[in-house]
Amino acid sequence: MLKIENLHATVEGKQILNGLTLEIPSGEVHAIMGPNGSGKSTLSYVLAGREGYEVTEGSVTFNGVDLLAMEPEERAVAGMFLAFQAPVELPGVGNANFLRTALNAIRRARGEAEIDAMQFLKLARARMKVLNMPEEMLKRPVNVGFSGGEKKRNEMLQLALLAPKFAVLDETDSGLDIDALKLVADTVNSLRGSDFSALVITHYQRLLNHIVPDRVHVLSAGRIIKSGGPELAEELEAAGYAGVQAAA
Ligand code: ADP
Ligand code: MG
Ligand code: MG
Repeated sequence: MLKIENLHATVEGKQILNGLTLEIPSGEVHAIMGPNGSGKSTLSYVLAGREGYEVTEGSVTFNGVDLLAMEPEERAVAGMFLAFQAPVELPGVGNANFLRTALNAIRRARGEAEIDAMQFLKLARARMKVLNMPEEMLKRPVNVGFSGGEKKRNEMLQLALLAPKFAVLDETDSGLDIDALKLVADTVNSLRGSDFSALVITHYQRLLNHIVPDRVHVLSAGRIIKSGGPELAEELEAAGYAGVQAAA
């Protein structure tokens, strides 16, 4: 499903990703862990197609298609969802309209009928109840003035409604409390199945107590230095990144 090969990327002329290779089959949830500055967020931005992140070597394919040749919007329509460490604020854009527009773009691409404002409201209300979000958050501009926890809830609302084929969640340093972490985990776990896969990027092991990954990869200086099962996350917690780096 997602295949990253020998990926090299620069930001502002600085080499950040240095030959990253990773394959995430359909139906699997993989975690990337790594110390601050190892390139975790850079990887998520490269996958998103953010401006300023230049791929200098290597490839990324999504279901056999060259992801790097796609516009950011095309990636979303193809079934990719990206949650960032710092979600974007969109002043002047109502949260409900934004979400419904995104959902309908994806529905059109899937050959499904678009949904109207009433149908959307019904879907959103049900999910917001689960996420413990007040309905007035639908009327506010996207993420403007939202607290960290509210932004994360809003992102989980997007994730649940869009039901992508592939989700990248960059949770690093996001300072989420345990309730917010559990909401993230519950949302990802509710989507798990043969047609969904995810890449969970995290600095700490605690999120992985709730989202048990199929595989764990350690990123260091822009490349994967070690891969293993969920026990690798615990090993990291015990030995620290330095211990794993020294052994690799
Ligand atoms: P992580 O998410 O693992 O903490 P990042 O991907 O955010 O790491 O950053 C990796 C490296 O790239 C760091 O050394 C960081 O300082 C550098 N970097 C990230 N963004 C920029 C930028 N816009 N300009 C220059 N250097 C950057
Ligand atoms: Mg960081
Ligand atoms: Mg980061």
